Amino acid sequence: MKPVTRRDFLALSAAAAGGYGLAQWGVSAWAQSLKPGEKFDLLIKGGDVVDPGQKLRGVRDIGIRNAVVAAIAPDIPVAAASRVVNAKGKIVTPGIIDLHAHVFPLGSAIGLPADELAPITATTTFVSAGDAGANNFGALKHYIIGQVRSRVYAFVHISSIGLAGYPVLEMKDIDYANVDAAAKCVAENADVVLGIKVRQSANVVGRNGLEPLKRAIQAAERSGTKARVMCHIGGVPGNIADLLDMLRPGDVLTHAFSGSGNNTVQDGKVVPAALAAKQRGVVIDVGHGGGSFDYTVCEPAIQQGFGPDVISSDIHASSGNSPGKPFMPWVMSKFLNLGYTLEQVVAMSTINPAKVIDRLPKLGTLQIGAPGDVSIFDLIEGPVKFVDTRKHEREGQRHLRPVHTIRAGRVFGGPPYFVPSTYP
Ligand SMILES: [Zn+2]
Repeated sequence: MKPVTRRDFLALSAAAAGGYGLAQWGVSAWAQSLKPGEKFDLLIKGGDVVDPGQKLRGVRDIGIRNAVVAAIAPDIPVAAASRVVNAKGKIVTPGIIDLHAHVFPLGSAIGLPADELAPITATTTFVSAGDAGANNFGALKHYIIGQVRSRVYAFVHISSIGLAGYPVLEMKDIDYANVDAAAKCVAENADVVLGIKVRQSANVVGRNGLEPLKRAIQAAERSGTKARVMCHIGGVPGNIADLLDMLRPGDVLTHAFSGSGNNTVQDGKVVPAALAAKQRGVVIDVGHGGGSFDYTVCEPAIQQGFGPDVISSDIHASSGNSPGKPFMPWVMSKFLNLGYTLEQVVAMSTINPAKVIDRLPKLGTLQIGAPGDVSIFDLIEGPVKFVDTRKHEREGQRHLRPVHTIRAGRVFGGPPYFVPSTYP
């Protein structure tokens, strides 16, 4: 017989003193996470948990207490929680992370409010992709990041005005690309700033060629932090290999499957510099948006080993009204029908972007101690039609529909949970 350890004894005492009869529930790992008299704030019950960050797939209950995941176990009784979300038959994932979004309403011309996007996209973390530059980053930090319930990180634009000039394009005047100001902004806000954003389309940079990217890299290096560069492509001037060769390991190539000319795929073949970039650790990001996702680029790219590392939406006030519907669950669903498994799609929307963010331990997972950010979906089986940003249509067989968004243990929107006495 296994001897009773001190740890077992403490768990037994805690469970007993907490009022959870041992005869009824036995001694479970979950009970050890509660002190006498405590309950979970929220219990997500019976969902099919998909958490690639800890290689977990299966029906589990998740107990959240004090804003973090306190327990994850096959069966946690409803009486051990103050509130219960019934997730039976649903897909439960770590809170979805959108690495390329535009969430600076009023400050950038195309921003949307993160907290309005959160419940309709089951997204708990947004990365502002260059909405603000050094001159207006303070407003993003204090008026948005400081006030929203959603988690928000940011890339600072190499243009000191960010996207505030839209539709006047921010890199036509290279004098906006102030390396010292951008570097200082990164360094002073390293808690939430991941690096520098630059848009390298010909229409954005005018006659300035690759100079904006050069300055973005200089600013990242001059910041004295491990700042990344997020480089937007699509209609890049000159040879795209010159741009790709400049990207450093850890930098992010966004709109990687754009069909706007001079793409990562040319004549059906991934350009060697793109494959080389991926191999040396450049992060390949979708950034779907209103004009940056082309099936005829993405499909051969995937076949030739240039698939995405991260799925992101590039959602903003304009792209959100475009036929490709660049909302995270819909973009994830496109990849679900491009041959990726649900686990792979969830990894590219949780743990992979969390590693790029690299600011918060266990973000992007549902491990014990992880932030209590959880997304719940219906996985709907049946024919579905998708369209990219260049009018190519594809038929699919299943898609994800958001059901609930939970941030730090609190459910967005109305109270969709049950108190234990009314649990069905
Ligand atoms: Zn964007």
